[in-house]
Amino acid sequence: MRRIKPSPSSAAADRLAQLRRGGRDIVSLLIGEPDFDTPAPIRRAAIDAIESGQTRYTQTAGMLALRQAIAAKLERENGLHYEPRDVIVTVGAKHAIFNALSVTVEPGDEVVIPAPYWVSYPDMVLACDGTPVVVACPETEGFLLTPATLEAAITPATRWLILNSPSNPTGAAYSAAQLRRLADVLLRHPQVMVLTDDIYEHIRFTTADNPHIAAVEPAMRERTLVVNGVSKTYAMTGWRIGYAAGPAELIAAMDMLQSQSTSCACSISQAAALAALRSEASFLPEWVATYRARRDKALTLLNAIPGLRCGAPEGAFYLFVDCAGLIGKRTEQGQRIDTDLDVALYFLESAGVAVIGGTSYGLSPYFRISIATGIEVIEEACRRMAGAVAKLSA
Ligand code: PLP
Repeated sequence: MRRIKPSPSSAAADRLAQLRRGGRDIVSLLIGEPDFDTPAPIRRAAIDAIESGQTRYTQTAGMLALRQAIAAKLERENGLHYEPRDVIVTVGAKHAIFNALSVTVEPGDEVVIPAPYWVSYPDMVLACDGTPVVVACPETEGFLLTPATLEAAITPATRWLILNSPSNPTGAAYSAAQLRRLADVLLRHPQVMVLTDDIYEHIRFTTADNPHIAAVEPAMRERTLVVNGVSKTYAMTGWRIGYAAGPAELIAAMDMLQSQSTSCACSISQAAALAALRSEASFLPEWVATYRARRDKALTLLNAIPGLRCGAPEGAFYLFVDCAGLIGKRTEQGQRIDTDLDVALYFLESAGVAVIGGTSYGLSPYFRISIATGIEVIEEACRRMAGAVAKLSA
């Protein structure tokens, strides 16, 4: 436990709540979840589940009907064939990743994590006594892992590569050709498994399809764990339903661990997730259009602030903003801004805008903003940040 730290997102949210309780007027760009409500038919399915007595333990791996719906989804949308027995339902995608690492990572095992990364990956690896091997994926490479960087990161001790596409925090997504080249490297290193965190797959701003490494290279299927869930696509973060699909032996081990920990995911949430996966998700195009409009507005406003620069993310609902132009500047109080954590602190203290420094995601100097919030909130935050930046001196 001494090796891990609280999730920076949760820590920032706690600090925000504390400041607001103290009366501070803070505009938050921290939010890592859709600001939409769970659609009504999904909510109704949960109410029906309660009324019809689906209030008992389910199978440890999740209700068969839900696992069948997940298998059907993976076939339909990702071109991946899994039997329901190859699928496990977990308490959110986060729990699927934690379970998978728990049953596979031995002390000394290495897990390759492309940076910028979702904040929880390195600490989860550490919690499992593994060694996170963070590899920098600079903006010049589109924040994506290149075959050469992957090759250089792999050792005989490498157990996993974690791929998150589209990514939190950058929104970068891999094309089929890019995945093909990564697969070529992985085929040379049979000791390495791939965990794909596909949680943002439906929040894409391009018409490009959403390739999966195990579909691009079928030989990778037996070495891939697909992780996904309903949190982001269906605005169901609080329901806590995620899932994983992969090799039978791995799923069986995760099932055994789950039988001794959570027993199963919440039966009512499982019923809601089943309704979600069986639905047409007709609300989704409108939600994605809303995220896109906010993204475009935020990009215009941020890129007009001297010292900040941001490219257009392909998916997810975050912007990863380059703040190299602010490093070395001084505040009105004469304090020097040395890091992106200083930038985040300066925006919080002087402008009442909450963002998260890129250091937390393993790549600096950047900060992450969320666009899962009203456009007026984004406009106000950018207005305040522009004012704060204008007060800095060289
Ligand atoms: N993976 C990534 C990349 C995320 O950003 C998040 C949530 O922020 C999760 C997984 C967690 O998803 P869930 O709510 O299903 O646990």
